[in-house]
Amino acid sequence: MKTLLTGGAGYIGSHTAVAMLEAGHEVAVVDNYYNSSPEAIRRVEQITGKSVTLYEADAADKEKMREILKAEMPDCIIHFAGLKAVGESVAKPTEYYRNNIDTTLTLLEVMKELGLTNFVFSSSATVYGEDNVPPFLETMPKGACTNPYGWTKWMQEQILRDAEFASNDTLSVVLLRYFNPVGAHESGMIGEDPQGIPNNLMPYISQVAVGRRDHLTVFGDDYDTPDGTCRRDYIHVMDLAEGHVRAAEYAVSHKGTEVFNLGTGNPYSVLDMVNAFSKACGHQVKYEIGPRRAGDVQDSWANADKAKAVLHWEAKRGIDEICRDAWKWQSNNPQGYGE
Ligand code: NAD
Ligand code: UDP
Repeated sequence: MKTLLTGGAGYIGSHTAVAMLEAGHEVAVVDNYYNSSPEAIRRVEQITGKSVTLYEADAADKEKMREILKAEMPDCIIHFAGLKAVGESVAKPTEYYRNNIDTTLTLLEVMKELGLTNFVFSSSATVYGEDNVPPFLETMPKGACTNPYGWTKWMQEQILRDAEFASNDTLSVVLLRYFNPVGAHESGMIGEDPQGIPNNLMPYISQVAVGRRDHLTVFGDDYDTPDGTCRRDYIHVMDLAEGHVRAAEYAVSHKGTEVFNLGTGNPYSVLDMVNAFSKACGHQVKYEIGPRRAGDVQDSWANADKAKAVLHWEAKRGIDEICRDAWKWQSNNPQGYGE
């Protein structure tokens, strides 16, 4: 199968490129390097010994995307490209709505022109909102999001559903709701490389462990959980990547819209992650307890049964492997790709 990954030089896209190539599929990548580096794709090629066709382009640029998609005519498009920083989305909502929604609309329009039919979308558990009680099931109603980033995912899901509905059984849309992607490829050659101060827990812990930051602030220890800190469903990025291989294979052989949670089904607290990482890196990761972070939900984890039943996929790696691989990436590349 021929796949085209928008945002494929990013964190999840680059790991998915490895999994796709290893499964015997072809990979083309479109990225504008807003939050990534072509170096990630060079390393994907090193890991797999296979080549990737790389296009530097904005996925919202219709003329450019028409040219690229015409040249590639992929069996399946996996749409990772997007802006993803929750806090930044509150400060810059129009940039987030413009970039995230425009890219999706452009792809749908060009796909229609060229008769391309299969689409896999990077959605997020954030669409379950604050009122659903975990484990989250795909059949639960979507909730109200707490920030513009979340709303862009919510809206893109709706746009894709509506486009598929109107396509008279032509389109195949797979909406993947990721839980908390963490870790790195086992080689330690590719991993998460956030710009500036990390917003997310795992890259923050990694940078404390490697000495780039002094300590982690744990956002609240007064939640109604066993140790008082929030719980999340942390999924190894290579498990997530393998989920995309199954999802794309599913997309090309079905029509309609399907939603899948990609998570492990197992919740871990912030302190569980600090302790597991401390074990992996061989020293205690320094932390202090701080106030709660606005917009955080107490608990979020998946019911991952549907992906297992339909895609024959389930997460295989646990938090020890997650922390081992994240540490390997961080300690081999203390400044990320920027060295
Ligand atoms: P990332 O920032 O590492 O990757 C996104 C990639 O898209 C980057 O390489 C960026 O340069 C590129 N990009 C952004 N706008 C573009 C545009 N207009 N044209 C071309 N390229 C563009 O992020 P990631 O963690 O790999 O996330 C991938 C997708 O998964 C995103 O849509 C994100 O919202 C979604 N997601 C991520 C998480 C997470 O925790 N990482 C969770 C749920 C959903
Ligand atoms: N968290 C934290 N300190 C940090 C970053 C995150 O305590 O510096 C906590 C956060 O409050 C949440 C969990 O770690 O309970 C996961 O946060 P992340 O931002 O990684 O993911 P999300 O909140 O989007 O699930």
